[in-house]
Amino acid sequence: MELSLDAIEVKQINGVSAQKQNELHAFGVFTVKDLLEYYPFRYDDFRPRQLSEIKHGDKATLVAKVIGVPVLQRFGGKSRLSCKMVDGSWMFTATWFNQQYVREQLTAQREIVITGKWDQKRNAITVTDYEFTDRGEGKIGTLQPVYSVGGKITQSWIRKIINQGLQQYGELIPEILPHSIIRKYDFMSRKRAIATIHRPEDTREGQQGRRRMVYEELFLFQLKVQAFRVLNRGRMDGVVHTVDNATVRQFVRSLPFELTDAQKRVELEILHDMRSPYCMNRLLQGDVGSGKTVLAAVALYATVKSGFQGALMVPTEILAEQHMRSLTKMFEPFAITVGLLTGSVSGRKRKDLLASLQMGMLDIVVGTHALIQEDVFFRGLGMVVTDEQHRFGVNQRSVLRRKGYNPDVLTMTATPIPRTLAITVFGDMDVSTLSERPKGRVPITTYWVKPDLMERVLRLVGREIGQGRQAYLICPLIEESEKLDVQNAIDLHIQMTQAFPDYKVGLLHGRMTPGEKDGIMRAFYSNEIQLLVSTTVVEVGVDVPNATLMIIMDADRFGLSQLHQLRGRVGRGRHASFCVLVADPKSGVGRERMTAMTDTDDGFEVSRRDLELRGPGDFFGTKQSGLPEFRLGDMAADFEVLEQARDDVAELLKEAEFWTSTDYAPLRSYLQSEQIFQGDLMD
Ligand code: ADP
Ligand code: MG
Repeated sequence: MELSLDAIEVKQINGVSAQKQNELHAFGVFTVKDLLEYYPFRYDDFRPRQLSEIKHGDKATLVAKVIGVPVLQRFGGKSRLSCKMVDGSWMFTATWFNQQYVREQLTAQREIVITGKWDQKRNAITVTDYEFTDRGEGKIGTLQPVYSVGGKITQSWIRKIINQGLQQYGELIPEILPHSIIRKYDFMSRKRAIATIHRPEDTREGQQGRRRMVYEELFLFQLKVQAFRVLNRGRMDGVVHTVDNATVRQFVRSLPFELTDAQKRVELEILHDMRSPYCMNRLLQGDVGSGKTVLAAVALYATVKSGFQGALMVPTEILAEQHMRSLTKMFEPFAITVGLLTGSVSGRKRKDLLASLQMGMLDIVVGTHALIQEDVFFRGLGMVVTDEQHRFGVNQRSVLRRKGYNPDVLTMTATPIPRTLAITVFGDMDVSTLSERPKGRVPITTYWVKPDLMERVLRLVGREIGQGRQAYLICPLIEESEKLDVQNAIDLHIQMTQAFPDYKVGLLHGRMTPGEKDGIMRAFYSNEIQLLVSTTVVEVGVDVPNATLMIIMDADRFGLSQLHQLRGRVGRGRHASFCVLVADPKSGVGRERMTAMTDTDDGFEVSRRDLELRGPGDFFGTKQSGLPEFRLGDMAADFEVLEQARDDVAELLKEAEFWTSTDYAPLRSYLQSEQIFQGDLMD
C-alpha cells in the first residue's frame, strides 16, 4: 500500500476537472478510493431477452428487426415516432418520444437492440435506450450500473469516470482480508470484486463481487468493535472502585424490596468490573419493569462510596426529573447529593451546579445528553450510566478521556434483544441480562378491541379511577405531522374531560415546554391527575406504580417494541393492571402485532416477534440506534453474514499473530485509521 488510493484526489482521474471534483464532494467522493467505493444501487439489464418471456410492464432489452415504415406524429412541441418491428416471429410496435431524428436510421431489415417498457395490451414497447448492431457502442449484452447521481453529475458521466478510475487505479486496489478468510469463503480478490461490482460480466459474477464486499464491510465493523473491546480489556487505566461488600450491602438493604436473583447476579457482574482496573463498558438489558434502575443506583452508589462522582444520562427531561426524585430519596440516608442538569436549568442555578460538580461537592448529576459535554467538568468522574439511545461511541469515550476521565460505563437498554444478536451488534460491550421480573408482580392483562367498543373501554377507565387508580390514554401517532398528533391529543383531552367530569384529566404532548410537561408529570405522580391523555412522550421509563390502566389508541400504528414499552408503564405496583389496544388494523402485520401483544407480555418474546415482523434493519431503526450504516451490507438482509464475520473476527483476535504477522498488517492499519489501535485511545 505504498501508494494509497485514499491519498489521491479524484481529479487525478482523466476527465475529472477541478470543478467536477468539487461537484463530486456533494456525494462524499473526495479521493480515488471514495470513487471506486461509490457503488451502484442497481443495474440496468441490457442483455437481450425473447419477447415471449417478457411480462406486461417489464423493462427489458430485446433484439429486433425493422419491418415497417416509421410514422412520426407531432402534437404541441412534442413528437411520437412509431415503427413496426419483429422479434423472431413476434410483431410489435416500438415507440420513441421526442426523438424524431431516429426516423432516418430505421431502415428496413436493419437490426436494432432496444430497451424499454413492454406494454402487452398495446403490443408495444416504449424505447428508453437503443443501439444498432451494425454500429454498437457496447452497452448491449451488459449489466449497466446505476448510481445515485444528481445536479451536474449525470449517470453516463459517472459511469465513464468510474470506468476510467478503474483503468488508471484498479490495479492499485489493495487486498485487506487475510488469505485464510479469502480461502475459506472462496472470495475473489478485492480489486476484482470492486471492478466487478461496477462492471459485472453477468449476474452471478456481480453477486460474487457483492458477496465479498458485503462480507468485508461487516468483517471490518466487527473487527472494529471487537478489537476495541479486546484492547480495552487489556487497558489497566480505568477507574478502580474500592467499595467493599459491606458498604454496598448497606444500600441494598435500605431498599424496600429484596433484589431478584437476576438482579443479584448482574449486581456482581457490575461490581466486579467496577473494582477492576479495566474500563467497564457494559450493556444492561432487561424487560420493562425488571428493575434496571435499581442496578444503576447501586453502580452510582458504589462509585460515590469509592470517592468518585457519577452521572446518569437519560433521553428526556421528564425522565431526568423522575430519576432525580427517586435517587434523591434512595440516597438521602447516605448523605449522597444529587443534582439535576437539563436544558431548562439555566443561569445562576446552572452556574452553581457546574461549580459544585467541578469542586466535587456534588456526588451525582442526572440529566440529558449535554451532561458530559461542553463546559461540564467533574472533580472525578467514575461512573456514567446511560441509555441505549445515548450509547457512547468510541469517539465520545475519547472525548471523556481527553477531559481526563476514564469512567466505567453502564448502558441500559429498554429493548431487550436475544443475546446473540446483542453481542453481534453491540460487540464492543459486555452484556448483562435481567432474565426475570420481581416476584409478586401482578400480571398485566392485555385486550385488543375494535374502536366501536370504546364505550366499554371508558367504563373500564371509570372503574379504575373510581377505585383510586390512575390511567394513561395514548393518542394515535401520525407520523407525517406532529401538528396533527397534537391536535388529536387536544381533541381526546376535551372528550375525556367531558366524559369524566369528577376527575382531573391531564394532557401531555411534544409541543409543550419542558416546564409544562414537568408540571403535568408531577401532578400525575402525585395523583392530582387521574387520567393522562398523552402522545408517546411517556413511552420510556416513566414509573408511576399507582397507574393500572394503559389504553393505546390506533395501536396498530406503533411498533411492537414500542407497544411493549408503553404497556410497561402499568403493572408496576401491587394492583392488577390492564392494557387495552384499540385498533382496527388493515394490514396483516398490524393484526400480527395485536395478537403478539395479547399472546405474551415477555419482552424477549415480543422483541423476537418484532424482529421476525420487521427484520433487524428496521428493528434497530436508522440513525438513533448508533449503529453504522453500511455501503453495501444491510443489517437485515445480511444478518447471517454479519454473524459469520463476528465469529471469524473473534477467532482471529484470539491469535497472538494478529498483532504481528504481515498478513494482518492491512487490518491493523485499518484499526489505526479508525483510531482504535495506537490512535489516541492507545496513548
Ligand atoms: P425498568 O427495568 O423498567 O427500568 P424499574 O427499575 O423502573 O424497571 O423498576 C420497576 C419497578 O419495580 C420500580 O418501581 C422498582 O422500584 C421496582 N423494583 C425493582 N426491583 C424490584 C425487586 N427486586 N422487587 C420488587 N420491586 C422491584
Ligand atoms: Mg473499573
